[in-house]
Amino acid sequence: MMPDPNFDVSVNLTRESSPDQSAADVVIVGLPQQDSLPTSLNEFDQIGNGWLTRLQESGQIGGKRGDLTLLGVPSNEGPKMLLVAGLGDAVHHRSDAFEITAAAIRSLLDRPRGCVEVRVAEQFPAEHHDAIVAGAMTACEGQALYRSEPSLKLPTQIAFPGVSQDQLDRGRTIGQSINQARRMVNEPPAVLYPASFADAVTELFEGSETEVEVWDEGRLAEEGCRAILAVGAGSARPPRLVMMRHNGGGDEPPIALVGKGVTFDSGGLSLKPSEAMMDMKCDMAGAATVVGVMHALAKIGVKRNVIGFCGLAENMVSGTSYKLGDVIKTRSGKTIEILNTDAEGRVVLADTLDVAKGFQPQSIVDLATLTGACMVALGRDVVGAMTNDPKVLSGIESSASIEGELMWQLPMFRHYDEQVKSKVADIKNIGDGRWGGAITAAKFLENFVDGQPWVHLDIAGPAFAEQPKAHRDAGATGVMVRTLLRWIEEQA
Ligand SMILES: [Zn+2]
Repeated sequence: MMPDPNFDVSVNLTRESSPDQSAADVVIVGLPQQDSLPTSLNEFDQIGNGWLTRLQESGQIGGKRGDLTLLGVPSNEGPKMLLVAGLGDAVHHRSDAFEITAAAIRSLLDRPRGCVEVRVAEQFPAEHHDAIVAGAMTACEGQALYRSEPSLKLPTQIAFPGVSQDQLDRGRTIGQSINQARRMVNEPPAVLYPASFADAVTELFEGSETEVEVWDEGRLAEEGCRAILAVGAGSARPPRLVMMRHNGGGDEPPIALVGKGVTFDSGGLSLKPSEAMMDMKCDMAGAATVVGVMHALAKIGVKRNVIGFCGLAENMVSGTSYKLGDVIKTRSGKTIEILNTDAEGRVVLADTLDVAKGFQPQSIVDLATLTGACMVALGRDVVGAMTNDPKVLSGIESSASIEGELMWQLPMFRHYDEQVKSKVADIKNIGDGRWGGAITAAKFLENFVDGQPWVHLDIAGPAFAEQPKAHRDAGATGVMVRTLLRWIEEQA
């Protein structure tokens, strides 16, 4: 079975209800947290002689953030149902537009529906309309890829009257790009492994301006990528390195995005217990995020030079697995002592970062589901950020804050360097004990960027959700696609 590289959630987005449809099945209208009914609901209120006013006054519909009330419209014509979505009292943020719309659409996917019309609340400025469309798109993608009966019943059409064509197209692209990353993560490891990941990327960008290059195991050996090969050595599925070049910025040095793509992480000989292995198809979320961002850059035609790198390997157990005590000479020439084969992501990234460095990028951003320690420090919903260049990080932080994606910086004090020194090689792939594990992992990576401006984003927590949220299914989240797209677009 191969992953479908050009999948798209089969929902039709338009600016208006199609002319052959007399009315929408459901109209979604926002209700702010205030005493009187907003003008947007007056039209509906009059259909039933003030029925909505009565419902509001008696507290049957509410404007609290998260409130969703589905009502039958008391009329033989016009829309059949009205979904009143509480907006709360402060909704000028892009992520409110994204999440409130997504939650409203998601609540309607329990049964087949025709046209769903989203009446964009006046509280959302026009420049956030793309977030509304993107939110609707992501609501329509879930993790149940292999149910005989689809668990999300997609409406035949979602209409966004009042949204400009530009904002609709942009929102669709952002939604698709987030869903692209999520779909790759949600695919089972028997479907998505290094070679099929690389094939999917090649097909995804066919016909676009983005140039894709794939290094197979032979090329990786020629290039001296012994670290990537070591991690993949125990698997019947050989490793790959994928490069995607987006050339929109003339002569400027490129931005490098580097993703960890361990398509399944058993832990290797340092085997994970079953419980900890259950979600390890998501250990390629960094690489999938890079693909999602590159997809958005290509579709939007962003005028920047960006190269995406995915280091892909499957970490398995066999007679050819790499071992504890092994010393690997990485592509950069630095030697790594392996003291835990489950700390494999940083080993894959060592070579991948070195390849990226060769393109003289203006900055390098890596994304990796790297450490459980980062989740211990920050919880499941927050990205850990570490850097050697506070200026680059502050740009990314400001984009993250605009997009409402949570990120927090962890320190990179020099004294941590001692903890990755090895007795037999240049460095070892674990710290001294478990303390500060997210940081010692970053310290390891820092050895392979050679002082170039670099930000490391540990997405181990937020990349994959155990529980659904009102606005999103459980499983892959596509975290950081929006933030990085914004950051790249805002690079002067
Ligand atoms: Zn691991």
